[in-house]
Amino acid sequence: MKALVYDGPGACAVREVATPTPRGTEALVRVRACGVCKTDVHIHHGRFFAAFPLIPGHEFAGEVAAVGEAVTRVQVGDRVAADNQYPCGRCDACRGGTPLFCAHMTAQGVNAPGGFAEYTLVDEARLYPLADTVSFDEGALIEPAACAVHGIDVIAPRAGDDALQFGAGGTGLILAQLLRGAGVATLAVADLSPRKLALAGQLAGAETVMVRRDAPEAHDLALHNRYPGGFAIVIDATGVPAVIERLPRYAHPGAKLVMYGVAPEEARIAISPYDIFRRELTLLGSFSQLGTFPRAVKLVNSGVLQLKELVTHTFPLEGWADALARISRGSDEVKMVMRP
Ligand SMILES: [Zn+2]
Ligand SMILES: [Zn+2]
Repeated sequence: MKALVYDGPGACAVREVATPTPRGTEALVRVRACGVCKTDVHIHHGRFFAAFPLIPGHEFAGEVAAVGEAVTRVQVGDRVAADNQYPCGRCDACRGGTPLFCAHMTAQGVNAPGGFAEYTLVDEARLYPLADTVSFDEGALIEPAACAVHGIDVIAPRAGDDALQFGAGGTGLILAQLLRGAGVATLAVADLSPRKLALAGQLAGAETVMVRRDAPEAHDLALHNRYPGGFAIVIDATGVPAVIERLPRYAHPGAKLVMYGVAPEEARIAISPYDIFRRELTLLGSFSQLGTFPRAVKLVNSGVLQLKELVTHTFPLEGWADALARISRGSDEVKMVMRP
C-alpha cells in the first residue's frame, strides 16, 4: 500500500509499504479521508510525543476492508470513523479514572501508524459507524469534533453566558457551533480571515470581529466599544501566545479563560496574578479528547454539527508538502483533508 512515512522529524516521503494484516479484534480500514491538523505540524517538527518512524494522520474515516478472527462489532464494507487514542489502562492516571492523562497513551498518527496511508489497523472498539448521510470527509472531522465536545465539558457554559473566541479554524468552528448549542447568548468570534468569519456567522450565528495581527489595539478598541461589559467566557482557539496573553482584558469578573488552541511548548506569557485574584478569573485548559467520541459521532450523524462547509481543500498523499506549507502558513484554508 501507499503511505506517507516519516523516518524522523521533517524527513518524509510517500512510499510503498506492506499492507498490515488484522489480527484478533483489529480491523483493517481502507482510509478514505484523513484530516490535516495543526498537531501534524508539531509532529512534523518532532514535537507532541511523536515517535518515529511514523505514518501520521490522527483524524480519519474509511471502510472496513478486512477483520481479525475475534471481531464482532464491525463487518467488511462498514463505513466508519476511528477514535485514534488507546490509553494503557494500567498507569495511575488510567486506574484513577483520568485516562486522558495516560502516561503510556498510544495515539494513532502520533506514536503509532495513522491515517495518511491507504490502509491502517484499528481495534474494533475504536470504530464508529457513519450515517449514510455523512461523507468520509465529514467522518474524518469527528475526531476534532470529539475534542470540541471535550472543550464544552471543560468550559461548562451556562445558558445565557456571553463568549468571545479567538480563532475560527476547523476545530474552532466546531467549538463555536457547540457553544451556540449550549445556550451562549452572544458569541463573538475574532479571526484574521474574512472567509472563516463568514463561516462563523453562517454556522454558529456568531458576531464577527476582524483581527489585525499588526495592530491588536484596533480590534481591542472595536471589542471594547461593542462589548463594554466583557465576556463570561474568553477562548483562545489559535495557540498564538500573543493572543492568549491578551485574553484577560476581554473578561468580566468571574470569567473563564480557556486555552483550547495548541501553543508552542516553549512559549511563555505574562499574566497579572493580582488581576486573577481581584476579579476571580479561572484559567482552563482543554486538551485532546477521550470518552467524548460517542457523543461527537451522534452530533455528526444526527446533522446537529455542520461539517461539510469546513472542508475547503482536499489532497492526495502526494500533496502533503503543499498541505503542510498551507497549514504552517495559515490563511484562508479552513480544514484540509488528505484522501489517500
Ligand atoms: Zn487534530
Ligand atoms: Zn494509562
